[in-house]
Parts: sequence; C-alpha cells; structure tokens
Amino acid sequence: MRAVIIVGDGMADRPLRELGYKTPLEAANPKSMDRLASAGSSGLLDPIAPGVVPGSDVANLSILGYDAGSVYTGRGPLEAVGADIELQEADVAFRCDFATVKNDLIVADKRAGRIYEGLDELEEDLQGLDFSSRYRIEFIFKRTSGFRGVLVLRGQDLSPNISAHGPKTGFRVDLIDAADDSIEAKITCNALKEFVTLSHEFLERHPVNRKRKSEGKPPANIVIPWGPGKRPNLQPLCERYELKAACVAGVSLIKGICKLSGMTVIDIPGATGDIDTDAAAKGEAALTMLQDHDLVFIHVEGPDEASHDGNAGGKIAIIQKIDSMVGLLMERIDPEETYIALLADHTTSTRLRRHTGDPVPLLIAGPDVIRDGVASYSEKVAAGGNLGRIRGRDL
Ligand code: ZN
Ligand code: ZN
Repeated sequence: MRAVIIVGDGMADRPLRELGYKTPLEAANPKSMDRLASAGSSGLLDPIAPGVVPGSDVANLSILGYDAGSVYTGRGPLEAVGADIELQEADVAFRCDFATVKNDLIVADKRAGRIYEGLDELEEDLQGLDFSSRYRIEFIFKRTSGFRGVLVLRGQDLSPNISAHGPKTGFRVDLIDAADDSIEAKITCNALKEFVTLSHEFLERHPVNRKRKSEGKPPANIVIPWGPGKRPNLQPLCERYELKAACVAGVSLIKGICKLSGMTVIDIPGATGDIDTDAAAKGEAALTMLQDHDLVFIHVEGPDEASHDGNAGGKIAIIQKIDSMVGLLMERIDPEETYIALLADHTTSTRLRRHTGDPVPLLIAGPDVIRDGVASYSEKVAAGGNLGRIRGRDL
C-alpha cells in the first residue's frame, strides 16, 4: 500500500465578506477535491492543539508525526538544510528575508515587493562581503526562493539564544538582542547586527536596487535574519514507520524538514513557492516518486502567500490549481492500492493576513476507507465527517 499526503499551505480560511461569506476553498468550487471527499472520510485537524496558532514549521513537523514541542529547535536550521547547507553541530542558522526599509530602518515592505529579478547577483555580491573577521566567524548566506534566504554562522562559541524576529511592516528592524547573559549570545548577537548593518549599507547602493528604484519598485535594501537555531535531531521516517518517503515541495523550509526526516527530496523546475507555481509539474513529479516510494508528501506554498497578501482572488486561483493537481493524481493513481490525504497545515486568514488557530479540513480516501457521505471538501462540511477531530501528529 502506498500513500500520498497533499498539503495546501494555509489553504483553510474564514468566511470572507467579499466572497459572499464563503471561504476561498468554498468559492474555488474544487471539483476534484469534492470527488475525493465523496470517496473517503473527512474530519477536522488541529495542527498542534485547538486554538494554537502554528507556524508552517511546527505544523508540518506535526503532520509528519513528530512531537513539534520536543524536536523543534527553530526555523533557521530547517530552512538551511532545505537550502542544501550541511549544518555542523556548532552552527547557528537563521531564515532571512530580503526587505525594503526606509532611512530610519522602518520596514516599508517586508518582502521587498516580492522581488524575483536580480537575486542571483545580490546573493553573489553579499557572499563576497567580508563580515566580522574580528570574531573569526564564517558567514554563509544563500538565497532560496523569491525574497527568502538563509544565513549560517559557523564558528565556536556561538549561541542560538538570540531574539531575532521576522520583518514586520511599520516596525524597526534592529530589534536583535541576546536572550541571555552568556558571552556566546553576545558574540552571536553582535555578529548578526554587523551582518544586518553591512548588508543594508551595501544593498542600498547596489545596481540591482538602483534599477528597481528607477522603475518605481521597492528595493531589496536589507537582509533580515530571524528564527535562530541549531540543527535538530529528527528520527527518520523509515525508522519510525518503516516506510520509504519522498517530498515534492518548492520552499526550503519543507525541503529541510523532509531531508532531516530522511525523505528523498527533489527539485522541481517551476515550483516557485508562490501562486505562480507549476502544480501540474508537482503532480507529475509525485507520480514518478510514487513508483519507488511508499509515501509521497506534496506541499504547495501558494495559498499561504496569497493569504498573507490579503489576495482572495489569488488564493482561489491557486486552490483551483491544486484541485487540478488532485484531479491528475486521482486519474493516474489506483484507488485500490493508494491512499490520498488532503489537508492544510493551518488556517491563514486572508482578512487578517496571518495564521489563526482554527482547525483545518482533512480528508482521507483509499482502500478500506469508509465513505462517510461528505461530498465536498471545505472547512464547514469536513466537520460532519467520520474522522471527527484529530491532531496533526495523529495523522
Ligand atoms: Zn504553513
Ligand atoms: Zn504563512
């Protein structure tokens, strides 16, 4: 028996007035998802526990069966592993975002206008800068998808006990602080501040940004590191469940989680981590991986990105793309041999533009699964299904 788990990141939502009080999932009218619901059991899933607002990191760890509370060491190391950096034991890793700040270091755009062009150049030139030779720390910076990147500090005497938060529009960026009195935290904090300051000075006058400014686009004039942590230890899925698993994902966070859990991780051209992603290519990749893996985990980031932008139309469009991918999988997978689970990793409210603690709709179809009479896939109707209400780690 094989299984496919499909996660639409932040796909669940709340009713929106502009959609006549439908959720984007309901408004998308996803025919294939509805057909899948008719063929299986539905229910609600609390990613962590009822009312707990999760990040994608802990939510996806839970969905893969881990107790996120005990294995999670921070966002940074998961992203760094996903970006193919071999993390050493003493390394401290950060997730980074290219952002736009004004002269007073107040964030004007936390994703630098969702920058796409010129990123290779910015990455290469940042890698050439000489940071903190004073501390004998190696700085490893890598861009990942879109505005995202990772920073790894390599050296002895480093501490992940740093308070460093992701950029928030309207807030100052220099809120990095040591979270304890240790000399290690102080060194790490100072090195990090130096990285942010120098990146800003350098990027402010970079030709890529001069061009962006002349075109009226927000410049990517700072790199903001957040989510510090050391490499976590995850028991591989092949040991936990005796299965060979593969991951089909576009963003480095998910690739990192899956790599650390011993899954085969592949790169898919066209998987952008945004609403323009090539969902069909992901479906095809999943079908190929299913030939020699027991479990294939498909993650699509787009719905979450649209929700954070308050873009209901974009969210509906990417849900419809995921729906086509579900249709493709249903067409080519033998339902007598393969289970399909469909869910969101958490709710992201398009109106609030952030994650919320609501449960998400879950459906499971496949051999021996009871057809519970639920005939569509949405936040509302899933509540009436046979699976009741379970936690992410119970999936
Ligand atoms: Zn998520
Ligand atoms: Zn999100």
